Amino acid sequence: MANILPTSIGVLTSGGDAQGMNAAVRAVVRAALHQGAAVHAILEGYQGMVDGGERIRPLSWDDVGSILHRGGTVIGTARCPAFREREGRLTAARNLLKHGIDRLVVIGGDGSLTGANLFRQEWPGLLAELVQRGEIDEPTAQRHPALMIAGLVGSIDNDMVGTDMTIGADSALHRIVEAIDAITSTAASHQRTFVVEVMGRHCGYLALMSAIAGGTDYVLIPENPPAENWEQEMCDLLRNGRAAGRRDSIVVIAEGSCDRDGKPISSDYVRQVLQDRLGEDTRVTILGHVQRGGKPSAFDRCMSTLVGHAAVQDLLAATPDSEPQMIGMRYNRVGRAPLMQCVEQTHAVARRIAEKDYDSAMKLRGGSFTEMFQTFKAIAGALPSVMPPARPRRLAVIHGGGLAPGMNTAARAAVRLGLDRGHTMLGVRGSFDGLIAGQIDELSWGDVEGWTAMGGAELGTTRQVPAVEQLYGVARVLETHHVDGLLIIGGWTAYKAAYTLYGERERYPAFKIPIICLPASIDNNLPGSELSIGADTALNVIVEALDRIKQSAMAARRCFVVEVMGRNCGYLALLSGLASGAERIYLPEEGISLKELQADVERMIEGFHGGRRFYLAIRNERANPQYTTDFMRRLFEEEGDGLFDVRQSILGHVQQGANPSPFDRVLATRLAAHCIDFLTQELERGSSSGAYIGLAEGKVTISKLKQMLDVVDLEHRRPLEQWWLALRPVMETMARPAPPRAPDPL
Ligand code: ADP
Repeated sequence: MANILPTSIGVLTSGGDAQGMNAAVRAVVRAALHQGAAVHAILEGYQGMVDGGERIRPLSWDDVGSILHRGGTVIGTARCPAFREREGRLTAARNLLKHGIDRLVVIGGDGSLTGANLFRQEWPGLLAELVQRGEIDEPTAQRHPALMIAGLVGSIDNDMVGTDMTIGADSALHRIVEAIDAITSTAASHQRTFVVEVMGRHCGYLALMSAIAGGTDYVLIPENPPAENWEQEMCDLLRNGRAAGRRDSIVVIAEGSCDRDGKPISSDYVRQVLQDRLGEDTRVTILGHVQRGGKPSAFDRCMSTLVGHAAVQDLLAATPDSEPQMIGMRYNRVGRAPLMQCVEQTHAVARRIAEKDYDSAMKLRGGSFTEMFQTFKAIAGALPSVMPPARPRRLAVIHGGGLAPGMNTAARAAVRLGLDRGHTMLGVRGSFDGLIAGQIDELSWGDVEGWTAMGGAELGTTRQVPAVEQLYGVARVLETHHVDGLLIIGGWTAYKAAYTLYGERERYPAFKIPIICLPASIDNNLPGSELSIGADTALNVIVEALDRIKQSAMAARRCFVVEVMGRNCGYLALLSGLASGAERIYLPEEGISLKELQADVERMIEGFHGGRRFYLAIRNERANPQYTTDFMRRLFEEEGDGLFDVRQSILGHVQQGANPSPFDRVLATRLAAHCIDFLTQELERGSSSGAYIGLAEGKVTISKLKQMLDVVDLEHRRPLEQWWLALRPVMETMARPAPPRAPDPL
């Protein structure tokens, strides 16, 4: 074979399909083209590699347009027995070399990644054999001395050690939680019990997280089988729940669940137990492949784009000696870990389960998994403590700031966990105005029933910060109701209110109580937390709306300017741009200049002249006070001069109005649990700190209120450091068609 081909990157999806694989393929293609590298799709996984011919084909920029929102994988996936044999891999190597491919992005599960690694190890030997057989020439073999691999994990189970999330897991969780929400309403109507079986042969991630997000009663996972006599424990729990006013009872079971002796527990067995012992009408729902279906969630689109982009950077920088890496997410950032180490540890979890070494299996899953398991058990089992502590405490829950989906979830978790600790839990209705008016009541376990899944804020929220002359009123109510600790769930103004109370504690002794703020704002503009509750839900709402807008516009040559919320924080604009494949985003952090708008118009004109049919611009509501959405629409329309038409869409309050996403529910629950711990510990210690909680680098962190001003930009009401701005270049790479082909960088 003549050696005239430039080397190229190959991309394939293999094994089980997962939502988000298309976003990863798109990112690989565009990042590669952007750098001037060629890229080939290998269709139908390893089967396409073995078959060769038409199944390995170059991809252009436009070939991966309009695939971000599609479930499954547009380049196909398959199981390929032939690739398990050396002969099959020999053919695969020959086929890759026909296209100059010696760098591969493999998107698949542990099986696919194991296969990739074996292929890499054998590569020099395979090439030597191909030379010997006369199927390739010596210079070709010399030109491609090594196969370089980057592995992206596509698996809805989230079962891979070394990445916090796998491609598809968040979308699967969306499907499951949608189903549980639907089942909850029918179960509640008939006072029925349901057993919901979800995927996860060796991994309880989907079961555990959906059990938390769905507000269910009991969960069975493979890594931590229930104790002996669990049937009784489960029935007692459900019976207590009913007695406390619960109308629906749901047990979630992972398909690979076993008891402590390793004996499989089937969903039907659980149903039988519930029916026999509780005499309840019990139904089983096995969700099956529904979990793989549907559109990828906003998170899956963003994450897959980021890891796909990173894979190309790595492969272009790789040398024959580079150790293959698995690229995933670690603490909200792209993270890398040696591929085979991750695969081996993943297998180790399954082995530990088989050996009934459940402690080690849980440890391998990581600290936050264990923490969430404990939190679930505490909330599901939480009932007003039978033995109140010597000095019962009174903890109040209040909201502040704009509405954020997930506020109810956080309030419910806090109330139930607080009651479980023996505290009296108080709910303040109507934010600080309500507090001053004395709208503060005890909340029982049953009062918060069903709040997990509810959007809105049952306690009510306003953006009001108590004025100086109102502080006396606030103090009076706190005293009259003997409030010992305060949990403020909300956004910027909630934090401001907390800061004000904290600053006035010398003047008003009633404020000398532990106070903690929990971040809840769709704007994601709060200090001390990389993510606030509500932001993921809003992002999903925006992305869904953008999908529809795109569809509506496909028939005409059209530009859409879509305005999203966020106040002075561009998080929603940037992330929704990344997730929807927008051409341009306008952020308040960057502003908008006339010069840029002019350049954008030129780009648009060039694009539409070149055959483009759609151009999506996302504008944060405060990106520029003068260049409004309407102004931009008119400007683009005028300058477009009939070449394309321009529409605007201001998404408005729908962004705040949805039921919380699974991620927001899980985060709300996790943070609320830590807040109750914090308040309890402060009270036990006799201390009264003011704090705000958050998620930073994957960990729950608690920061001191008194230092809050050091980390915020007060004028713009956002943190000084905004981690997500680092994603800006990826968005640019995905949006801008590749420059004219540069010399081969490989
Ligand atoms: P997943 O990647 O989702 O775990 P599989 O385990 O079915 O799915 O693997 C997908 C494909 O990857 C297989 O059909 C096979 O072609 C290839 N593969 C898996 N394991 C190996 C292996 N040990 N050696 C070679 N190829 C493998």
